[in-house]
Amino acid sequence: MFWEVAWSVGVTWVVVQLVLLWLLVDLLSGVLHWAEDRYGAMEAPLLGETIRKNILHHYRPRHITRISFLACVGPTVAINLGIFAVLLMTVGLRWQVVAFIGMGMSVNAVHRWAHSTPSELNVVIRSLQRVRIIQTPAHHAKHHGLPRLTHYCAFTNVLNPVLDRLQVWRRAERLIHLLTGVSPRIDESLPGHGPTPEWVKDIDRRYRVSRSDW
Ligand SMILES: [Zn+2]
Ligand SMILES: [Zn+2]
Repeated sequence: MFWEVAWSVGVTWVVVQLVLLWLLVDLLSGVLHWAEDRYGAMEAPLLGETIRKNILHHYRPRHITRISFLACVGPTVAINLGIFAVLLMTVGLRWQVVAFIGMGMSVNAVHRWAHSTPSELNVVIRSLQRVRIIQTPAHHAKHHGLPRLTHYCAFTNVLNPVLDRLQVWRRAERLIHLLTGVSPRIDESLPGHGPTPEWVKDIDRRYRVSRSDW
């Protein structure tokens, strides 16, 4: 009896921790995405290329499905290797660290799958989307709708409605403006903000992208 209770409590605690780590990865994906969307500049030292990819993503959301899988997941793998090194030196090697880093590394893959058509995905990925373990295409499409100011989290369907209802991102922007005077950048991919930049059109030509598949 004692061992039965101890076993079920242990399993429950592991599941609770996994869910919390899953939500933490979702939250961090939202914070990074929001910071890139609202404050990123292509001219920024070191991060400029990452920001350029982010800006391209708003002009051409499906581009993420045309590059190789390795090119897609590379940035999140690199970020997470850095976090892994810090966690190893601070909290040490624990299963929670491995689970957190594993989920963190897969954020860009989940994002790519959210832009893929069902025929481009295998049955495992489609099932993970169907049971909402990873973000669904319909949910992520809300970020790419107008005015592209919501649904920054890119890993699950859980946190976005909560954060958007609480206006967390707008409140953070108001606080940043109050403290530093810095305002969010204008998203020039939105309608009415000028023509599509030539560097984006160059990519269209290189990948032979038709307007119906932006
Ligand atoms: Zn975005
Ligand atoms: Zn996207």
